[in-house]
Amino acid sequence: MIMKSNGNQQGIVYLVGAGPGDPDLAVVKALKCIARAEVLVYDRLVSPRLLQHAAKSAELIYVGKLPDRHTLPQEEINELLVEKAKQGKIVTRLKGGDPFVFGRGGEEAAVLAEEGIAFEIVPGITSAVAVPAYAGIPVTHRGLASGFTVVTGHEDPAKEDSDIDWQALAKNPGTNVFLMGMGKLSLITKRLKSEEMDPDTPFALIHRGTEARQRTLVGTLADIAGKAKEADFKPPAIIVTGQVVKMREKLAWFEQKPLFGRRIVVSRAREQASVFAEKLESLGAETIEFPVIKIAPPADYGPLDRALGRLDSYRWVIFTSENGVKSFFSRLREKGGDIRELKGAAICAIGPKTKEILEERGLRVDYMPSEYRAEAVVEQLQGRVMAGDEVLLPRANIARSVLPEALEKMGALVDSVDAYKTVRGDGDVPLLKEQLAAGEVDMITFTSSSTVRNLVAMLDEKPEGVALAAIGPITAATIRDHGLKVAVEAEEYTIDGLIKAIKDYWRGQ
Ligand code: SAH
Repeated sequence: MIMKSNGNQQGIVYLVGAGPGDPDLAVVKALKCIARAEVLVYDRLVSPRLLQHAAKSAELIYVGKLPDRHTLPQEEINELLVEKAKQGKIVTRLKGGDPFVFGRGGEEAAVLAEEGIAFEIVPGITSAVAVPAYAGIPVTHRGLASGFTVVTGHEDPAKEDSDIDWQALAKNPGTNVFLMGMGKLSLITKRLKSEEMDPDTPFALIHRGTEARQRTLVGTLADIAGKAKEADFKPPAIIVTGQVVKMREKLAWFEQKPLFGRRIVVSRAREQASVFAEKLESLGAETIEFPVIKIAPPADYGPLDRALGRLDSYRWVIFTSENGVKSFFSRLREKGGDIRELKGAAICAIGPKTKEILEERGLRVDYMPSEYRAEAVVEQLQGRVMAGDEVLLPRANIARSVLPEALEKMGALVDSVDAYKTVRGDGDVPLLKEQLAAGEVDMITFTSSSTVRNLVAMLDEKPEGVALAAIGPITAATIRDHGLKVAVEAEEYTIDGLIKAIKDYWRGQ
């Protein structure tokens, strides 16, 4: 447990392992330390998704490699930790994998100890073990390897008085795991050959293990360096040697996931993107968040405020989206009201997600149609909404008018008010264009018609050579209206329905 409380005079430094890549492989205490940090110092190879656990007020300091400069020298990192801790700050120093496995965590801890600064070590799951595991390679296995050696591949294997016992590695009947060795692969294999390692010894290279970008290349001591060159195999990667590599034939599991290696653009608003993105990632996909929409307050709060002022007069309140619910209730609270004012009205949610959000607010949903399209909703409301009923429809400025018009035909008195408005999102246009041109995108997902319109407008060109996926028929029609082809159309108009359709699409390929 983390005992330090905020506001303490004395600072503390947590030296924390962030795990091997997949943010879900960070340990619980690591998440707590990130959340508590007043200063968060992090490296390359730390997942951006972990940084999202930091407090908004936290100071984030990147000390990894940048294109225009080398890594911050270790002495400066040490000084930074000391300086921030001496200011009384809670400092979390986040490193890839485990902080004491080639992470120079020991050096940082030593400096803190010398300076009399309190520190704690939070071990992480090291890539040395986790990355082979994700490639289906157990580092030990009865009958194949009774031990494993983790060694740096960074040292020049031709060095005279080496710190590494190359002969022992060459003769090791167990598993060798080299970190930081990709750049010196051919030198490493040369040295092992000269130490008479069996040329048939199985080798595996694993790039970006535990992430959707994981790639594995298998060979032998004799041919792995040539194969890597041919495949243009890049760092960061680990090198695994030994008979356990063969287990992969049977145990490879991560790469078998239904969306493994697929690169999928999530275009919905940032606030809503992460749940969708995480679901895609748990199926093995790599997601590219490119928000084309942002949720903003309506141009004019007048109509919504007037509706909020007379909630007791409505017979029905129909919520058509999660954003509608959130905007409606946050404005209600701002105006000093709460859910008790909805006592008289029946509540309709247009889909399961909207229903869930309402129920989270302690409201009972009286009705949810079985299909989540405006036309279907109208049909199903026949006989429930009566002529003369006052109906409140809090929704987006750009919402289609099908629902209010049809309700009016039924004789209802419809009050359709803007609860929020959608504006263009801040997706990184040059980056996406580059990725599209390089063929690095497999699919773009659309969760509403406005996501289609905004994406096409933002790109200023039609996305070509990439599969387009729509959450339902209306969105699909909008895609076709732009002269584009629809590859995937969900049968159930929800995020889960869309994910199912995406899985089916690639199963069929
Ligand atoms: N402290 C880290 C290792 C830091 S050294 C740990 O415990 O995992 C950095 C090296 O680790 C890289 O050069 C690479 O060899 C290896 N590495 C780290 N994460 C990796 C990943 N996801 N996939 C492949 N190699 C990885």
